Parts: sequence; structure tokens; C-alpha cells
Amino acid sequence: MKPTTHPLKRHAQSLGVQDHSRDSVGMTYVYPVISRRAGGVSVGINLNPNNACNWQCMYCQVPNLVRGGPPPIALDQLERELNTFLNDVVHGDFMTQRVDADVRRLVDVAFSGNGEPTSAMEFPAAVEIALAALDRFNLRGKVLLRLITNGSLLDRPRVQSGITKIGSAPGEVWFKIDAASDKEIAAINGTRTSAERVARRLQRCIAIAPTWVQTCVFLRDGVFAAGEGWDAYLLMLANAGGDLRGVHLYSLARTPMQNESSRLAQLDIVQMEMLATQIRQLGLTVVVSP
Ligand code: SF4
Repeated sequence: MKPTTHPLKRHAQSLGVQDHSRDSVGMTYVYPVISRRAGGVSVGINLNPNNACNWQCMYCQVPNLVRGGPPPIALDQLERELNTFLNDVVHGDFMTQRVDADVRRLVDVAFSGNGEPTSAMEFPAAVEIALAALDRFNLRGKVLLRLITNGSLLDRPRVQSGITKIGSAPGEVWFKIDAASDKEIAAINGTRTSAERVARRLQRCIAIAPTWVQTCVFLRDGVFAAGEGWDAYLLMLANAGGDLRGVHLYSLARTPMQNESSRLAQLDIVQMEMLATQIRQLGLTVVVSP
């Protein structure tokens, strides 16, 4: 594709690490963020433009989150947006106009939306579109294809099919586990799924794609939210097997947008490192992002 001049909605200022607005370039499905966790520019694909998720995490940063699934995805529009945006990143002036020099690096294309990406019926087709776009811009193998998921739909063949393609892209999955007891899962993630099911889905994910666990740790009413369930969490990680790539531990860098947000607070780096040490003692790699 030819270099573009100004096909995207422009803002005067650079994108910052706090700017996670899904419409910062005026598209429906595609958006850029500067990702602390990924260390550069992440091209996000939002398959949940209606802010609907099958979970309701108490710390969720999606504004006006509702319970549910996404509307039908206009795959032709997704393809157009992704090609237009990547063209501007690779051949145009997006990086110089919008991104500070020290993070002017494309790190991934990530399915990470305002809800659970795999709940879209079109998820496997969307993965195909992303793979074709990576090939078109000669990015395959240089830029990871990532899926940020709550893992709740891993039992479904169509979800497994999409994740298998991500795994061989090459790509990886960040699988959300914030707690490992039924009670804490219900309280933190707003879902009635069981810890046993979470463990089984994690195993399944690890079997079909490189998988990291991502865990949000935070204070609720001044007390560590995972609390009594932390030992069960460590046991779940220990039982996940040696093929688990590691754990991304993060806290509430951005303001939660749900009703209980005033009860929640960030864990400081010292507390996070104490938790990370316990995970490392299992032989796992841990990346800490306060
Ligand atoms: S799974 Fe993600 S999008 Fe869904 S409620 Fe939890 S944090 Fe929000």
C-alpha cells in the first residue's frame, strides 16, 4: 500500500500511556495504545464496540460496561481499518506525529477490546484478517499477534480454532486469572464460573498457544482483594505445568469505571514484588507492571 498522509483522525498531542481511548483514531474496531505492559505501540482490535462483556470485573476500566456480547462484526470494515492503520504506522507518519520517540516501536497487534474478544462469533475470521494484514506489511514474526482474554469461552471449538491460529502466527495469549476460589472469582470478576473450570481452560489454552497468565492485584477496602484465595491461586499456577510462559502482574494504573471503584486502590510496587517473589518461587517468570 502507498504511504498515507492523513487518513486518520488527528489530535495535536502525542498518545500517552494513560490514553487508552478506543476511538483515538476515529475507527470502530482498530485503535492504538502505548502499552506499559508491552513496552511500545500496540495496535488494538476491539471486537466489543458496544462495551458488553460476559464478565463484570470490579476493577474494569471499560466505561458504561454492560453484561452481554458483541453485535455482528463487519469483517470488511475491520479489514479496511486494520490495513489503513498499519499502512499509516509502517509507511506513513503516525509514529512521528503521535508517538514519543522513546516508545516509537510497534510491539503487537492485540485482540483487546471493551469486552471479551472471543465472544464474537467472527473471532476466528477476525484472526485470519489480522494474520493477512501482518503478512501484507511484512510484520509476521516481527510483531506478535496477541489475545487478551478472560478465557471463559475456551471450551468452544471456534474459540480454540482462533487461538490455535494465534499460537502459530507466532503469537500468544494473555489469560486473565485474578483469583482461584469460586467465592473470589464471583466477587472480583462478577462471574459464576468455578476455579476448577478456570484451571481446565488454562490448561487447554496452554496446549494450543503460548500462554501467559495476567493477574490484576489491588486493594479492596484497604485489604488485598485476592486475600484468602491467594494460596489457591499459587496452587493453580503450580499445577498449570511447565509450558506456562509466565505471569503478568499488574495493578490499577488507570481508574476503574465500575460502581465499586471508590472501594479499590492500587497495590504499591513493594507489595507487588512480594507477590511476584512467591510466584517466582514456583519457577515461573513474572513481569510486574505497577
Ligand atoms: S473481562 Fe475484561 S472487559 Fe470483561 S469485565 Fe473483566 S476487565 Fe472488563
